[in-house]
Amino acid sequence: MTWDITEIQKWDWKKHPFGGTIKDPGNSRKFKTGGWRAFRPVRDENKCTQCLICYVFCPDSAIKTKDDKIIEIDYSFCKGCGICAQECPLDAIRMCDETKEQS
Ligand code: SF4
Ligand code: SF4
Repeated sequence: MTWDITEIQKWDWKKHPFGGTIKDPGNSRKFKTGGWRAFRPVRDENKCTQCLICYVFCPDSAIKTKDDKIIEIDYSFCKGCGICAQECPLDAIRMCDETKEQS
């Protein structure tokens, strides 16, 4: 689609079609996005110092904690973006080919 923007200075919000609308906030819990994953993060407990940087950066809240410690990565929601592995200062998370390695 190509937009005609010759009169863009006159545009207001009515010019645009409605985009996605979330009518029931919190519904992302119903959508298990783990099926999108091509690579899974695997944490090395021996290297990990529980700094929780990965937890802060995970866009899907897939890194679960209890008493300020990581207890698991919830693979039902982890999309395999690799941000946690990228941000870990100790390289304690490696991204493994989902089709070859399951742990
Ligand atoms: S960022 Fe790395 S060291 Fe820190 S909690 Fe996560 S895996 Fe552990
Ligand atoms: S790979 Fe992405 S979605 Fe999965 S735990 Fe790491 S940061 Fe979260």
